[in-house]
Amino acid sequence: MAIGSALSVGLVGLKAFTIQVQAFVSPGLPYFSIIGLPDMSLSEARERVKSACQASGFKWPETRVTVNLSPASMPKRGSSHDLAIAASVLSASGAIAADCLADTLVLGEVNLDGSVLPINGLLPIMLHAREQGIAKIIVPQDNLDEADLIPDVDAIGVRHVGELMELMGGTAQYRLPDGPRAMAADNDSVTAFPPPGDMDEVVGQHSAKWALEVAAAGGHHLMMTGPPGTGKTMLASRMPGIMGPLDEAAQLEVASIRSLCGTLAGHGISDVPPFEAPHHTASTAALVGGGAGLAGPGAITRAHRGVLFMDEAPEFSSRALQTLREPLESGYVAISRSKGTTYYPARFQLVMAANPCPCGYFYGTGERCTCRERDRIKYFSRLSGPILDRIDIQIEVPPVDSITRSAAGSGESSERIRRRVVAARCAARERFDEYGWTCNAQATGTWLRANTSAKAIELVNRALESERLSLRGADRAMRLAWTLADLSGMTSPGRSEMMQGISMRTRLT
Ligand SMILES: [Zn+2]
Repeated sequence: MAIGSALSVGLVGLKAFTIQVQAFVSPGLPYFSIIGLPDMSLSEARERVKSACQASGFKWPETRVTVNLSPASMPKRGSSHDLAIAASVLSASGAIAADCLADTLVLGEVNLDGSVLPINGLLPIMLHAREQGIAKIIVPQDNLDEADLIPDVDAIGVRHVGELMELMGGTAQYRLPDGPRAMAADNDSVTAFPPPGDMDEVVGQHSAKWALEVAAAGGHHLMMTGPPGTGKTMLASRMPGIMGPLDEAAQLEVASIRSLCGTLAGHGISDVPPFEAPHHTASTAALVGGGAGLAGPGAITRAHRGVLFMDEAPEFSSRALQTLREPLESGYVAISRSKGTTYYPARFQLVMAANPCPCGYFYGTGERCTCRERDRIKYFSRLSGPILDRIDIQIEVPPVDSITRSAAGSGESSERIRRRVVAARCAARERFDEYGWTCNAQATGTWLRANTSAKAIELVNRALESERLSLRGADRAMRLAWTLADLSGMTSPGRSEMMQGISMRTRLT
């Protein structure tokens, strides 16, 4: 019996693990099987791999060929192991030199005609290779730009199984398919800080801009309520520009998620916090992740380390809103399927926007509103409790009157706001160093009560007694007061910061 082996990498969520692919060519009737928990596309890999090898001039063994993918306990998905399966069979048959495959990862999908197709999720695979000290990786030619983002691992691009054979010391007869190749990523299109759209383009709305600044500085979730046309979307989309650039670890996380979604080419490794704005008709799977077999990432994971903007928040399905609870609490989402549970990171800043009522005009004196009172109450009832409880800042965004509109261009730039945000974040990080928290939104109620001055706490107690605040709301008001203190360069909040903190969250509770 002849044995050949190759190394591939599997992904569950963003977690990568090495897969040993072993081919056994033994006497017996012609038969080709793949074992080791293959899903549908892996079974189809049999047809693809056999045909692709034959299209490269390789004579497929007319005996028994068994390929085993281990560890068997790990679920495997997709077609990215095709090339490693082909390499192991070619090696077992003596068509390529076995020592060429040692310490080398082989990744790629193959077509029936032998051409090698790009795969999603190469970046987390490259990071895994670097971590494991694997020096060489063979990737589809169309993935080479992505592989080169991690220069510590030597990546070689191949376009055809025949090319792989020649690379490994074998001989092959093949023809590269005609037709246009996928365009390589245009490096000029890589987004870098600052992101497009500046806060100084937003007319008026000073209190809303201030609320966004506080949200960015303390990591607080935010809800804006106001009639249509007040610029809520414009404000929210400028949030990444005042949050400060991502650090290196966060950049790699965000890029790995994009790699998994197949959207990395348009971004590269970027320091801009992502911005995701799912539509209110989005399915739960589109929002939190899902799909057949092993679950794929959703909008909340694409928003990881950035902003998740939910416009017309009360219009989202209750089920979709309910599923946000876990990630808002823990910073990740767990999606269970028959093939196993997949974890995706989802530590995002939530910005929600809503009309004040179904018709949109319940503000000021409320005379333009045509809704019945019970419809107005019902409109927000979906959000109340589980979601609104977790939103620190709840503000109203009023219509911009024509006088303010004509006085355009008076606002501060995103860059100036960002400098204050970054300074405030630094102060919070230093204070919470021993606890491992990075911002005020993570501070526990116990810490807040032990460290906030008696004078400031007295205001919270009064708001509790008069039922202006709930018990949970009291903690959130205190967190806000700490952020307001950080933004003013104070070491702890006084009465004025606490008063403002209380007023920033009493809109809807
Ligand atoms: Zn109305």
